[in-house]
Amino acid sequence: MTKTPMQKMLESIRLSYQFSFDSAGGFIPAERILKAMAEVPREEFVPEEMRPFAYDNNALPIRHGQTISQPFIVALMTELLRPTPESVILEIGTGSGYQAAVLANLVARVYSIEIIPEMADEARQRLARLGYDNVQVLLRDGYHGLPEYAPFDGIIVTAASSCVPPQLVGQLKPGGHLVIPLGEPYHYQELTLLLKEQTGALQWREILGVAFVPLTRQRS
Ligand code: SAH
Repeated sequence: MTKTPMQKMLESIRLSYQFSFDSAGGFIPAERILKAMAEVPREEFVPEEMRPFAYDNNALPIRHGQTISQPFIVALMTELLRPTPESVILEIGTGSGYQAAVLANLVARVYSIEIIPEMADEARQRLARLGYDNVQVLLRDGYHGLPEYAPFDGIIVTAASSCVPPQLVGQLKPGGHLVIPLGEPYHYQELTLLLKEQTGALQWREILGVAFVPLTRQRS
């Protein structure tokens, strides 16, 4: 039986896990995350001309110089957040809305912040059309987070930053995870996982080398 493009994408994600982490690393893809991804039509989140490649396990350009992340990285970042059906998650960098849609299948509510007005509009319309009614897209500079809806069970930053924006740490619940690519934009970054302990202390863990577009700042 021939495999669908979606089945091939999921298989390729499993292989990426195998190649990226040795067995001591302890990372294997969580089936429930792959199941959530299987329900999101990625072709709806890429420009028309990229549709033939929508289920490749690659990042793709999505206008305004931005990219939709590689499915393997989406799976990994989603998993690192430890989403539960009760979780309320904050995403910085809506982009196409794909990561938000994957999360929406796993958690109670997703707040997603985008700094480019056209991207925010398009993602908002796309997510509404596809029926993701537990995602709210907001137009603003995500560096400051979203104090009015804080605290969050998890925070995911899908753009590269040289530091962890301090206000995001403040908006994370004790016991919550924050995942962010730290380093130079367009160069090598370290996907970093922070756990905020019940005491408020932070545990840091570097997970994998990645390459994200930059977290930009609003000019005032
Ligand atoms: N998560 C996206 C991909 C992210 S691309 C997806 O699933 O498609 C990074 C996005 O972050 C871009 O859309 C970019 O405009 C946005 N961005 C960059 N700096 C930002 C900031 N300070 N606040 C909010 N969004 C930002």
